[in-house]
Formats: sequence, structure tokens, C-alpha cells
Amino acid sequence: MRIDSNRQVPPTQWPLIILFIIISFSLVLAGVIYFKNQKQSLLNEKQLELSAITDLKIRHITQWRLERLGDGKFLGGNPILVRKFLELIQRSDDKSLRDVVTESLKSSTANFDYENALILDRNGKVILSFPGKDSLISEQLSPILTGIIKKREVVLTDMHRSDTMSLAYLDLIIPLIDHSVNDSLVLGLLALRIDPQKILYPLIQSWPTPSKSAESLLIRKDGSDVVYLNELRHLKNTELLLRKPVTTPKLPAAMAIMGVTGTIDGYDYRGVHVVAAMRKIPGTPWYMVAKIDREEILSALKRQMTMVVIILILFILTSGLSFGFLIRNQRVRFYREKYENELAHLALVKHFDYILKFANDIILLLDKDLNIVEANDRALETYMYTRDEFIGMNLKKIRTPETVWQIQEQLKNVDENESGTFETLHQRKDGSVFAIEISARVVNIEGSKYYQSIGRDITERKRAEDTLKESEEKFRKIFELSPFCIVMTGKDFVILRANQSFCNMIGYDEEELKSFTFRNFTHPDYVANDEISLLRLIAEEIPIYHTEKKYIRKDRSVIWGSTTVSIIRNNKGEVQFFLVMVEDITSRKKTQSELIVAKERAEEGDRLKTAFLHNVSHEIRTPMNAIIGFSTLMKEEDLSESERTQYLDIIYQSSNQLLAIINDIVDIANVESGQVRINFREMNLNESLRNLNEQFKYKERENKVQIHLTTGLPDEKSVIRTDGTKVIQILSNLINNSLKFTKEGQIDFGYTVKDSFLEFTVRDTGIGISSEHIDKIFNRFYQVDVAGSRQYGGTGLGLSICNAYVEMLGGCMKVESEPGKGTVFTFTILYVPV
Ligand code: ADP
Repeated sequence: MRIDSNRQVPPTQWPLIILFIIISFSLVLAGVIYFKNQKQSLLNEKQLELSAITDLKIRHITQWRLERLGDGKFLGGNPILVRKFLELIQRSDDKSLRDVVTESLKSSTANFDYENALILDRNGKVILSFPGKDSLISEQLSPILTGIIKKREVVLTDMHRSDTMSLAYLDLIIPLIDHSVNDSLVLGLLALRIDPQKILYPLIQSWPTPSKSAESLLIRKDGSDVVYLNELRHLKNTELLLRKPVTTPKLPAAMAIMGVTGTIDGYDYRGVHVVAAMRKIPGTPWYMVAKIDREEILSALKRQMTMVVIILILFILTSGLSFGFLIRNQRVRFYREKYENELAHLALVKHFDYILKFANDIILLLDKDLNIVEANDRALETYMYTRDEFIGMNLKKIRTPETVWQIQEQLKNVDENESGTFETLHQRKDGSVFAIEISARVVNIEGSKYYQSIGRDITERKRAEDTLKESEEKFRKIFELSPFCIVMTGKDFVILRANQSFCNMIGYDEEELKSFTFRNFTHPDYVANDEISLLRLIAEEIPIYHTEKKYIRKDRSVIWGSTTVSIIRNNKGEVQFFLVMVEDITSRKKTQSELIVAKERAEEGDRLKTAFLHNVSHEIRTPMNAIIGFSTLMKEEDLSESERTQYLDIIYQSSNQLLAIINDIVDIANVESGQVRINFREMNLNESLRNLNEQFKYKERENKVQIHLTTGLPDEKSVIRTDGTKVIQILSNLINNSLKFTKEGQIDFGYTVKDSFLEFTVRDTGIGISSEHIDKIFNRFYQVDVAGSRQYGGTGLGLSICNAYVEMLGGCMKVESEPGKGTVFTFTILYVPV
């Protein structure tokens, strides 16, 4: 159970008390019900017993009476005895007879246990009495004698007490009839006196079970009284003397006489509360009442109940004690906890005082109007006020004027949320200002609203924050503006930041990159190597990872990047970020490959030059040998004219061939040394081409190849401005090549106008050029099959010269060819019509 620390008194343990009351009440109720039941059943039992005893008594008394009447009849029926008695009545003076009769009476009284025997004459006069005492006939007896004589019946009288006799008695009156004389004449009476003390009273009084108060009474009505006939248990020597009015209320004897039978609850002659059973004794005016004190009946129950009550009380006491103990325990606990709370509170108060005094923070308590109610030492020290000056001062006074307007809003926020934190500016007494962080809270003290404000001077923190911000800004700028490409990724390799240089390099903007890893734009050839190396980097096997790899830009172009990856770890050595620096080395790589190409080309040139020298020497020697050989032959005197002409032709042709070779070499030397000049003049293109065609028509005769010319401009418009010599030199070179490499078919040449250019074509149906060579044929000294070319002759310079001339004329040269089918050379020159 939690103890409410605000409670001053322990809580009343109502549940326990109610439980205790319920248990006690239930127990008492159960006890009462038990008692009532027990009492009722005991009373019922006793009533039955009393009823049975009453019946038994009545039977005994009736039996006793019958016996007495039997005695009477027996004696009255004895003729000898009766005659003797009657004789005595007649001769009462006869002494001997008196003795004889006395003797008979003696044996009768002895035999039948009668107290006294009297012989009476018809008038009731006592003739003889034995043993002689109480020989008087009482006044109650005299009136009934006449009736007895008349009825001639044996009568047992009611009990009566003679004034002269000390004791009550009954008389058995036997009419004496001498049946031999007259059956209906009663001549005398025999009265046998019975002392009830002897048999009747003990008979009445005897009780079948031991009891202190039980008694049975024999009563009869006498006028308006009840007369108690027998000796009473609780009142001695009262037989026939005790009388009670029939009207006595609740008196069992009176009730019996009033005709009540069965068992009742009443008050006996002593006024004691009794239970009684009563009945009339048949054939008599008597009533039998058997009674017992209620107290006696209930005494056993009382004992029992006393025990029950004791047990109940003990039980209630015990449970009461237990509950009491429980309640007490809880009270003790309550007070102990309260005490402990009090101690803790005291400690807390002390601690709080200590905190207030020595706290590094400024602690203020403000009332609802923001007047300072309490302040700690630190506050006084900071604001430079004395306590007297400070307490009661309004908050506005320690705020800088420009922050006063914020108070309303800040207060509203604190009120709404019960607390709030904000930053503001405070000023000291000397006017100096400092930044402060306030944590304010609404507190309720005895029903009044206060604000508790804890403030912290954050000047230093602000400065540190500014420095940090500055430094962050510096580094951000370095990162942002660095010409180097810098990227920061998380430990999952997803890009967090990428600077502008990197974005420019890769073509994506920073936002796009933030969902990428490097894998997204690394060339597939390098991904596997990256993965392995990054794992080695994380495992600290290598300090940094450096690689040169290809990246695929957003526009799908491929670039080269020199990439360096390093790890930024926290204090615990855990990976935080990856820092990636990339340098675009595409141009370097390009230069490198160009250098390689150049190198290869130089090597090729070298090789070609060797081949050229070999070739040139052959090409020069061939005509030279012809010239020298045929010049020598020309010296022969016996030469015929035709032979001479033939030799001269050969010398002439060989000289021309030699000249052509030398021209080529000179031309290329001029091209390479930059000494070739372009001379733009007017040129009649169609005419010049037709002349060229004519020259080759002449050669056509030697070949089986036909040459066709196509002009693209009408003659009148075919005058252009260009270096006509070079154009013709280029065309003739190309047509010569075609003728050289075409065994049959035809050669078409001509031009068309294309925008501001004239496009010239030389098409043949010759051997063609395979694709592996086609790129190289413009190289100097290059011949498709160096060995095989010999059969065609040439130096491998012609196309180089042509190409150089075309470029000089502002155009470009192309070749398309299919081996075995033919070749098409196309070149353009600027079209400048005149
Ligand atoms: P050359 O003096 O050897 O002819 P060129 O520079 O004129 O030198 O030609 C270079 C090479 O190009 C030739 O050796 C030849 O192999 C090839 N070539 C040039 N023109 C043709 C053509 N019309 N048909 C086939 N091959 C040709």
C-alpha cells in the first residue's frame, strides 16, 4: 500500500473494520439462532416429558384409587365380616363382640395398610374405631354419608383435613349390607382412613428423573379457589391448606381447573417461571399438574450457551485483536513511512538549500506578475544586486530592452505547457549583457501561482557554437568549393554529400546522388575490385584505397577517375563515413593513349621509311638503270632508226618516271617543311578536267579500262577560284592509282556541288583496300602490301601529298572501298565561283 505523503492522519481501515463487524455480527446472529433453537427444542423435549409424566402419574393414581375401591368392595362383600360389624352396631356394648370386631379391623387395616378403621351406624355415629386415633368424622364427610347409604356404593372420599386432625386424609367408605336380610338396606358403614403421606403423596411426588425443581401437584377446585391437595416440594405442610384464586393469571393449577390441558408456560404458586403439563384425573375432581422450573430446563442450555458465548467472545476478541493488530501495524507503517518521508523531505530540503546556495545556475522564483520572490546566491552574484535590491524586482529589469517584448509570448508558452525552455538576453546591474538559457516552470505554492526559472549563462557556449559554426562553415566551403571532387558516404556506402566538382564531373546533381552508391556509376569492369578493396580498407589491412577506374557519367559517356577512399572512424574505432576523392584523369589517359599511338606511329614511320628507302632505291634504280642501259646502247653504231627511237622512248619514259618520283619526294618534303604555297587563281574547271580526261584517254589505249568524266556545273558556271594545279595533281594522282590497281572495268571521275563545297570523286572497279589498311593509306610511305606493291610500283607518298593538298584547299578527303570490287576516293574543296 502506498502512503500518501500529504496525509497527516493514517487512513481509516474501513474494509477491515467492516469485515470485523460483519464477522462478529454473523457469529452473534449464529449464536442467537443456535440458542433459540436449542431452547425451543429443550422446552419441547421437557414439555413432552412433563406430558408423559403427567399421564404416568394419572395412571398410577387411578390405579391406586381402583385398588382402594377394590379393597372396599372386597371388605363390603365379605358377609361374615359385614355381619359381625352389623352385629356390633346393634350390640355396641357387647364387649366380646367388640373385641372380635376390633380384631377383624386390626387385620383389615394391617392387611390393607389403612391408617384407621371406623364402624359407623347409618347416622354416621362412630361405633368402633381402630386403632382409635382420629375417630372423628369430619364435617366434610358427614354430608356424603347419606348419599353413600342411598347408593350403596363403596366411595373413596376426597382428601380432607379435619380441624381436629393435623394431617390430611381420605376415607374409603364401605356401605355394610346384610344381603341375607335385605340387599338394599345399608345398616352401617365401614370407614377406612387412608393417610396420603404413606402412598399417595410419594406416588404423586416421585419423579422418574433426578431434578431439582420438578414436582407434580394434585389439585382440585374449591369454590373460587384452587386447593393444593398434596404436600408441596417447595412449601412444607401446606397440603389442603394452600389455596390460590382460580383467577390467578398464568398459574398452571388455575389454568388446569379452567379446563386448559396439555403443556403451558406459566408461574407457579411461588411465582417462579415454570413449564407445566396438566390433565384432569378421570373419575375424580382432581387435576394433576406436573411442572418444572424453566430455569432448570434452561440451566444446561445456559451452561452450554455460556460456553458458546465465551467461545464467541474469545473468537470475536481474537479476530478483533488480529484486526486491531493489522490496523495498528498499518498505522505504525504509515507513521514510520511518514517519518521516513519526513526525514527524506528534510534531507531533500537541506539538499535543495545546498543546491540553491551553491548551484552554478541562476535560480529565481517569480510571482505571477513576474516579481522576483526568491533568488539564489548565484543569481545575486551574476546580476550584481544585493538581496534587498533584487527581491521584489520585476523580471523586465533584468531583461535587455529589446527582449522585453518577447516575455508575453514566452510566458504564454510556459503557461500552456506548464514549462518551457528558451534563450534570451539578460543584463546585469552595470548594464553588461549576457546570453542566457532559461528553463521555466509553473509551480503552485499553497494555491498561488509562481514561476520557477533556472537560467544558465550561455555566453561561452554561444561563443563556442559560433566558433564551431564558423569552422563548420569553413570546412563546408572547402568541401563545396574544392576543385577536387569530394564525396562523403555513410557506412552503408550511400552518398551523403557530394561537392560541386564531383557533380560536374559525374553529371548528376547532389540530390540525385544522395540515393546512389559509387556502384551506380562505376564502370562494371571495376565493381568487383572495388568491393574487395573496400573490405580490406574496413578491416584496416590498407590505410587508404587508391585506384584508377572508369566512371559512367549521366550522359553515358565514360570518364577516368583517380579515386582515393579513406575511412573516418569515431573514438571507438567504428566506421562513421567514407571520404572519397576523385580526380578526373580522362585527358591524361587520352594523352597517354595518344602518346602510345604516336609512339606506335613513329615506330611505324620508321619502319615505313626503311621500306621507302628500299622502295625508292628500287623505284629510282629501275628507270635509272633503263636510262643508263639504253644511253649506253645508243652508243652502238649499228643501231637501226627504229631501235634508236625505241631506246630514246624508253630513256624518255624512264626519265619521266624518275622525275615523277623525285617530284613526289620533293612535294612531300615541301609539305612537311611547310613550303607548299597555295596559289588561288581562276580556273576553268570543266575545261581542265576535260584536258585531264584527254591525257588519260591517251593512256586508255594501254589499258583495258575505260575512263569517264562527269562535271557538276555547266561550262559557263564552271570557272572557279582555286589552286587549279593542285586540284589537277590530286585528281591525276588518284586516277593513276585507280589505273594502277584496276585490271578491268572502268574509272569514273568528276565532281558535284555540295553547298559551299565541290565534291570530287574518283571511282574504280579495282582490287579495293581491305578495312585493316584503309585507315593507314593516307600515312606517308604506307603501301597496302609493301612486298606486293612492288608489282604496282609507287612510293606510298601519293595519297599523303593529295591529303595534304586537299586540307590546304579547305576540304577533306575520304575513301570507301570493298576488296575485289573497287575503291571510291572523295575529296572536297571550297567552292568559290568567279
Ligand atoms: P603509291 O605511290 O604506292 O601508289 P600512294 O600513296 O599513292 O602510293 O598509295 C598508297 C597505297 O594505297 C598504294 O600502295 C595502294 O596499296 C593503295 N591504293 C591507292 N589507291 C588505290 C586504288 N585506287 N585501288 C587500290 N589500292 C590503292
